[in-house]
Amino acid sequence: MKQTQEKPRLNVVEQSAQTQLRILLVDRDEPETAEVRRAFDRNPEIHLEFTADTETASHMIAATRHDLVVIDAELPGSFALLKEIKNKYRWVGTLVVSRNHTPSFLRQVVKSRIDGLLFKPVTPAELLEQAILLATAVSVRRHSQQMRVLAIGAHPDDVEIGCGGTLAKHHANHDLLHILTLSRGSAGGDVNIRAIEAQSAATLLGAHLKIANLSDTYIGEGAETISAIEAAVRELNPTHVYTHCLEDTHQDHRAVHTASLVACRNVPNVYCYQTPSSTVEFKPHRFVDITEFIKQKVELISVYKSQVDRMPSIQSDLILATARYWGRFAGYVLAEPLRIIRQRDSDMVPDFGKEYSQLQAGALAESG
Ligand SMILES: [Zn+2]
Repeated sequence: MKQTQEKPRLNVVEQSAQTQLRILLVDRDEPETAEVRRAFDRNPEIHLEFTADTETASHMIAATRHDLVVIDAELPGSFALLKEIKNKYRWVGTLVVSRNHTPSFLRQVVKSRIDGLLFKPVTPAELLEQAILLATAVSVRRHSQQMRVLAIGAHPDDVEIGCGGTLAKHHANHDLLHILTLSRGSAGGDVNIRAIEAQSAATLLGAHLKIANLSDTYIGEGAETISAIEAAVRELNPTHVYTHCLEDTHQDHRAVHTASLVACRNVPNVYCYQTPSSTVEFKPHRFVDITEFIKQKVELISVYKSQVDRMPSIQSDLILATARYWGRFAGYVLAEPLRIIRQRDSDMVPDFGKEYSQLQAGALAESG
């Protein structure tokens, strides 16, 4: 009799690094801490990192995503680190542990806008429970609110010219930013210089940059380009894509537009930006207020020194005049125009970037 093989109904999936809660413990290197570390390490939901030094902690937070930082507030530099986290990292929670109960200490703790506080002595089990609660809350909030943005350009500098202000605004909003540039731009200059310029601009935006190796001026709209974009989509799973518009005299730009629509067919929000080679047929439906981000946009474009010198169309007075022109259609001082291919209404966040404006206003008040 033929034996039928039963298929397992459930697969046992190991906790991947993506789904684990990433916690950084900053505490003295002593036996008590070692016990806490062992308790965290035994929990498969958690990926724990440890340092006894706040300066090292600052570098670790900048280098990789963390959901929570647990810190002993009596370590030197702990309050400076807490302030840095609150100012720079919207998606990192903070849990303070301390032996200090004095009113002045508590005032300092409250001013640091921390997410949780535990007084020592605390058992590893208590600390673990609080840490999981806070890290989970941060992680859930990040997954539901953080936008994952993919900006696609045919050549180095296209995305900065087309939507650099919008990308700077996403950066200020602590969104996750990837830039995909499909060619190295050999027709417009030395590819090595252009790659360095592209990397410098991406660094200013806090963006991850990928430069594919399609041939400049010969980019097709078919399988090769679609696959390159699909790979970037698979990696980021973007909520928002910015790409070229079809109303453009450059053949590479049109090809990237067409390939983007195929590769991003499942992305809920897809927008097309204007470039210096766009035609008068470019008719936008969305205007992003970049009044507070024009300085960053001009700075991003000026990084491309090899291009600014040879192309009058990307000099700062024209960038400014273009933004001023489009601003009038939406009642903004300066705007970037976008054509909408697709937009999910739950993702229309009219106030995105507001937090940055408030921070700026706060900084001005402080300095004034
Ligand atoms: Zn281009």
